[in-house]
Amino acid sequence: MRYLSTRGGGVPKRFCDILLEGLAEDGGLFLPERYPKVDATTLSSWRTLSYAELAFEILSLYIDDIPAEDLRRLCAQTYRAEVFGGRAEITPLHRLEPGLYLEELSNGPTLAFKDMAMQLLGALFEYELGRRGEQLNILGATSGDTGSAAEYAMRGRAGVNVFMLSPHGRMSAFQQAQMFSLQDANIHNLAVRGVFDDCQDIVKAVSNDLAYKKSRKIGTVNSINWARLLAQVVYYFAGYFQATKSNDERVSFTVPSGNFGNVCAGHVARQMGLPIEQLVVATNENDVLDEFFRTGRYAPRGAAHTHATSSPSMDISKASNFERFIADVMDRDGAQVAARFQGGAFEVDAATMERVHAHYGFASGASSHTDRVATIRACWHKTGRLIDPHTADGLKVAEALRQPDVPMIVLETALPAKFADTLVEATGMQPPRPAHLEGIENLPQRVQVVDADAAQVRAVIDHCLGLG
Ligand SMILES: *Cc1c(COP(=O)(O)O)cnc(C)c1O
Repeated sequence: MRYLSTRGGGVPKRFCDILLEGLAEDGGLFLPERYPKVDATTLSSWRTLSYAELAFEILSLYIDDIPAEDLRRLCAQTYRAEVFGGRAEITPLHRLEPGLYLEELSNGPTLAFKDMAMQLLGALFEYELGRRGEQLNILGATSGDTGSAAEYAMRGRAGVNVFMLSPHGRMSAFQQAQMFSLQDANIHNLAVRGVFDDCQDIVKAVSNDLAYKKSRKIGTVNSINWARLLAQVVYYFAGYFQATKSNDERVSFTVPSGNFGNVCAGHVARQMGLPIEQLVVATNENDVLDEFFRTGRYAPRGAAHTHATSSPSMDISKASNFERFIADVMDRDGAQVAARFQGGAFEVDAATMERVHAHYGFASGASSHTDRVATIRACWHKTGRLIDPHTADGLKVAEALRQPDVPMIVLETALPAKFADTLVEATGMQPPRPAHLEGIENLPQRVQVVDADAAQVRAVIDHCLGLG
């Protein structure tokens, strides 16, 4: 399998080359040259596999530069019940009512679905860097979920350091404790006196200094990484197998969305032949994706027009993975894709939108704070299940759009314990916490506070690398 840029530039690459790279050189995103098709016989034979074995089967269709026995071992070491809340299924399906399910993706170390992919990424990075005898220093900015998922995936791994910037005093006490209580020598927390955008600006400034980036081997783990997306394809298959008895049945998925990474993995699974009826994109008040699927107009917004909501991990107004889907819709016409994504907003015609809905199966809806609080409360009263605000956005939209004869699976993207304030508002109760996280706020913390200044951040990196 070879990988190409959505914008058509550059030469075809192999998996391990794009694993350690971010964007393609022409500014596009990497996509496999084609999606391998899974026939009915293969699909049937996958039904009974463990999650780790299923992951191996799917990944091996896309990865031909890691020996099979190594890839099998990496999958087995990653997708273990001990790492994912003691659940043998790894992503168990929970029935809310007949035909309506939650797929649990949040039983990993940081209680959000990003662990599903990031844990594998950690294993792949360590493997490939070891094979090359190289080092990587991951620099990232986080407002919560991504940073902690990256730190828990990379902690203690050979060849990798993590430098994670977060806005000083602006994460919840629980989120801070999750990250700052890590004592691993390769994890470095930098709390920046500023907001999340300042953190991101610093990452950009440091990464744009190409000489510095090269000499310090700076890399990223952001959501455009193809390996993260590929890892997410697996749980669409796993959810489908749990919801159905035979391959004649179709199911739909609703996906709480921000950067379009999660639902894009569903699109890939559907292109591979998984019998998915609809892929429903659920947004919060930041509804740039819902606007596209309703109107055909994609108009990314700036930070000033991004609302801070009670489902904060979806407060995104420029969906970085959306270009991958549009590349497929445009039949991989790189020039067409480049023309659209190099500009600001764009619009596609009615015939194209017809294909987006009918051929690609996409639908969408949006949710608000009032909706998610009401949905959390109603779900609790009707089913006795507490859900987090992001999952509530998904459930709200799923209930509005589900079709009578098609089972609907809502992806649970975080556990309620991460968002206690909204849960208390909705139900009057503190959400329960997994036992190992009780009292995490009282553990000693490792963090350095720095100014919103790229030079200071560079100095900290150099000091930690023993360079000054
Ligand atoms: C990251 C995240 C999302 C959004 O996922 P995308 O892949 O960016 O669309 C939704 N919910 C939670 C809890 C998240 O952490």
